Amino acid sequence: MIKGTIFDIKRYAIHDGPGIRTTVFLKGCPLRCQWCQNPEGLESKPEIMVRFTRCEKECDACVSACPQGAILKKGSQVVIDKEKCDLCGKCEDVCVYDALKIVGREVTVQEVMNEIEKDRVFFDESDGGVTFSGGEPLMQLGFLESLLKEIKKKNIHVTVDTSGYVSFKDLDRISDRVDLFLYDLKIVDDKKHKKYTGVSNKLILENLQKLSERGKRVIVRIPLLSGINDENHSIQMFVKYLHTLRNVKEISLLFYHSGGCEKYKGLRKEGLLKTFRPPSNEKIKKIKKILVDSGFSVKTGG
Ligand code: SF4
Ligand code: SF4
Repeated sequence: MIKGTIFDIKRYAIHDGPGIRTTVFLKGCPLRCQWCQNPEGLESKPEIMVRFTRCEKECDACVSACPQGAILKKGSQVVIDKEKCDLCGKCEDVCVYDALKIVGREVTVQEVMNEIEKDRVFFDESDGGVTFSGGEPLMQLGFLESLLKEIKKKNIHVTVDTSGYVSFKDLDRISDRVDLFLYDLKIVDDKKHKKYTGVSNKLILENLQKLSERGKRVIVRIPLLSGINDENHSIQMFVKYLHTLRNVKEISLLFYHSGGCEKYKGLRKEGLLKTFRPPSNEKIKKIKKILVDSGFSVKTGG
């Protein structure tokens, strides 16, 4: 039976496509965007995360519950030896403060479908549906494809949020079962893209071109970051590239927030953490105007 690894299912989502949606987050991503707000989506495998701000100073319940002796309490800090931890979840079960979490669990297609079905009435009333996000959902192609087949049998609207850093063969394989792609476009300059995401954008730009030639509905999502991709030169590069696409007319502008910082610490990925700033409101207005004047329909914040 085909299984996949997900790290969250968010119900009543209103920024991940049209209407009210259930968003399923699949684990694993080929990019390492320095501003990523979902560091729990980077690795393909489940991991343990500590929410330090919730850990109670006087408590040490998890230390004695761990069969592997993987947890130490140093002052008010919980320290987990990831080498020893086998992700059994016993510590998560005993922590009444909800300070420990295994992020990522293996699920069957049917288990995800059961969650999706719960909100069917909201999808129908709001023209909503299901969104697959991550991480990069196409990294679990077989699982994603099986889910899409089941969802289409139920006639539910499907959105896939992708980095585009996948083979076009894979994108093409699922595209007939996808109603809308949310396509993340970070930076058009390849050198800069490599610097801030760890990979070249050549494949991403080519794939978007090909999806557009197939006539698929695509909304391009641009995460705006002050001093990285919000200067006039970068915006002009976005416009120039987007004008080469046949049917991409919708853009969503997203803004950086520092909400993911705690998660980096909790996953012991502090080394990957960098902080950025969103552009000022004035700058956002200017960027929006440039894009609208260039013929695009522009939404902000989702
Ligand atoms: S059980 Fe929870 S609150 Fe208690 S020490 Fe462990 S992480 Fe902290
Ligand atoms: S998940 Fe299991 S092995 Fe890992 S730290 Fe918690 S109790 Fe120990």
